[in-house]
Amino acid sequence: MIVAGPCSVESREQTLATCRGLAACGCVDMIRGGVWKPRTYPSCFQGIGEIGLRWLVEAKEQTGLPFGVEVANGRHVEASLDAGADMVWIGARTTGNPFSVQEVADALRGTHALVLVKNGQMPDTALWTGAVERLSAAGIPPERLVLVHRGFSQASGGGYRNPPVWHVALEMRRRFPELKMLCDPSHICGCREGLAATAQKAADLSYDGLFMESHIRPDEALSDAGQQITPQRLGELLAGLRWRRETVDVPQFEADMERLRLEIDQIDAQLFSLLSRRMGIAENIGRIKRENDVTILQRRRWDEIVEHIVGRAGELGLSPEFIRTILDAVHMESIAHQNAVMNS
Ligand code: PEP
Ligand code: MN
Repeated sequence: MIVAGPCSVESREQTLATCRGLAACGCVDMIRGGVWKPRTYPSCFQGIGEIGLRWLVEAKEQTGLPFGVEVANGRHVEASLDAGADMVWIGARTTGNPFSVQEVADALRGTHALVLVKNGQMPDTALWTGAVERLSAAGIPPERLVLVHRGFSQASGGGYRNPPVWHVALEMRRRFPELKMLCDPSHICGCREGLAATAQKAADLSYDGLFMESHIRPDEALSDAGQQITPQRLGELLAGLRWRRETVDVPQFEADMERLRLEIDQIDAQLFSLLSRRMGIAENIGRIKRENDVTILQRRRWDEIVEHIVGRAGELGLSPEFIRTILDAVHMESIAHQNAVMNS
C-alpha cells in the first residue's frame, strides 16, 4: 500500500499538479495531504484549512485516487469526512496526547474511513498502543486501522530527523498482528538522501507499504521542503524498491532455514543459561559485599569490563554500540540481583 502526497496542501494548482503526477506513477494507492498542520512554531505555515479539502476532492475526481488528511480533533474529523475523505491519520504529536486521541476516536465512532495511527514521539509502545486501544474501543475494526512508523524524536539523531526504532515498531506488529504497518521514510529521514534506503529497509522488514511526502515543486514547499520529492522522483524510487516475499514454498529453502534456526535456538538457549549463571555469581558477590558493607557499584571495575569487551568489537565482528547496549542491560540486571541480596 503506497500513500503519497504533499506535506501540506498549499494551493489548488499545487494539489492538482502533485496528485496528477502521483496518479501517473501508477503505483500510488492513496493521496495524503495536510490541511491543518501541527507546526512547532506559530510563525510557521499552519495549513491552508478547510478549503484544502475541496482541492483534494477535486484531485480525487480527476485522478480516481482516494485521499486522507491529518486530524487532531473532533472538528477536523467531521470536516474531513463531510468533505469525503477516505482516510484520516493521527499524527505523531496527537498520538502523544490521550485527550486528543480520545476526541478523534469519539468523532470516528460509526464512520467508515480508513484510520492511520502514527507512532508518538517517545520511542516506546505505550501511547501508540493506547491510541490503538481507544480507536478499537470506538468501533474501528482491525481492517480499517493501520500503523505508521515515522521515527522518534531523539537527542542525537545519527543523521535522521526522527531516527527509526525498528524494534519498537516490530513489537507493535507482534502485539497487533492483525494491523497493517506502513513506514514513513520522509519524516524519518527529514531529507531526500536516505529515503530509498529507509523504504527498502521497511520492505525488508515485511512492512505492508509506505507513507511518503511528494510535492510538485519540493524546494518551494511551505512545510518540510527538504524531505519532499517530485512525483516523478517518487515513482523512480518506488520502482527501484524490492518487495520480497516473507516466505516461499520451496523444500530446500525450508530445510536450510530449519537447520539454521535450530542452531540459533540452541545458541539463544546457551546465551540465557550463561546469563542466568552470571546472575547467580552476582548474587554471591552481593552477599560478600553485604558482609563487608561495601557499595554494589565499584566504578573502576565496571570501567575495566566495558573497556575490555568493547575493545574486542573488531575481533568479534560486533559493533561497539551493540556491545555497549548488551553490557548495559546485563549490568542493570546484575545490579538488580545484587540489590535483592543486599536488601534481603
Ligand atoms: C505529516 O505527516 O505531515 C506529519 C505532520 O507527520 P508527523 O506527525 O509524523 O510529524
Ligand atoms: Mn510533513
